[in-house]
Amino acid sequence: MSRRRTLLKVIVLGDSGVGKTSLMNQYVHKKFSQQYKATIGADFVTKELQIDDRLVTLQIWDTAGQERFQSLGVAFYRGADCCVLVYDVNVMRSFDTLDTWHEEFLKQANPTDPTTFPFILLGNKIDIDGGNSRVVSEKKAREWCAAKGNIPYFETSAKEDHNVDPAFLSIARTAMANEHEQDIYFQGVPEAVPDTEQRGGCAC
Ligand code: GDP
Ligand code: MG
Repeated sequence: MSRRRTLLKVIVLGDSGVGKTSLMNQYVHKKFSQQYKATIGADFVTKELQIDDRLVTLQIWDTAGQERFQSLGVAFYRGADCCVLVYDVNVMRSFDTLDTWHEEFLKQANPTDPTTFPFILLGNKIDIDGGNSRVVSEKKAREWCAAKGNIPYFETSAKEDHNVDPAFLSIARTAMANEHEQDIYFQGVPEAVPDTEQRGGCAC
């Protein structure tokens, strides 16, 4: 086992109501609530997982119920290793706004290479009405992903815990491939901080 531990920052974007908070809750706490509660307060949740020989801490940032463009602030986007876009397969508008979320992310996070920055798309709420109220086909979603440079795609249900773990595992792997150097730190006892304080340093 490597002593290396990796912190990965993942941000989750998409229209209000598509199930972003629910997906995170299902993944991290294994809980689902039917009640709609606008996300308040908490900036991120963390989940530890092991990938190959590495311990990975996923730091998943959720929008605090402010899914309006430009209201999220720089701290939200800064240092992101992966961007998860979520839409609701039953709501066309939530699919149509994906372009804007994608652009907005690139504008705000300003990654070194926008063409290779890792995104993942989740089509959520596939459980609703046994799929009968679905308006966005898997084909259409996959075409969008292909046009954006082969973004991985998962169809999920936060309610029924369908595909949530595989989606986040893929998110972690994708983020790992893009980790930032400053996000890597080492476990163990920190080196003693030398006492650099000198007396009588002033020569005047
Ligand atoms: P957010 O605004 O994107 O964070 O969306 P929420 O996670 O708050 O979810 C909005 C509503 O959709 C809530 O009432 C959830 O219970 C419901 N919801 C979220 N995911 C699913 C899902 O996969 N299936 C169903 N049936 N409902 C869901
Ligand atoms: Mg939310």
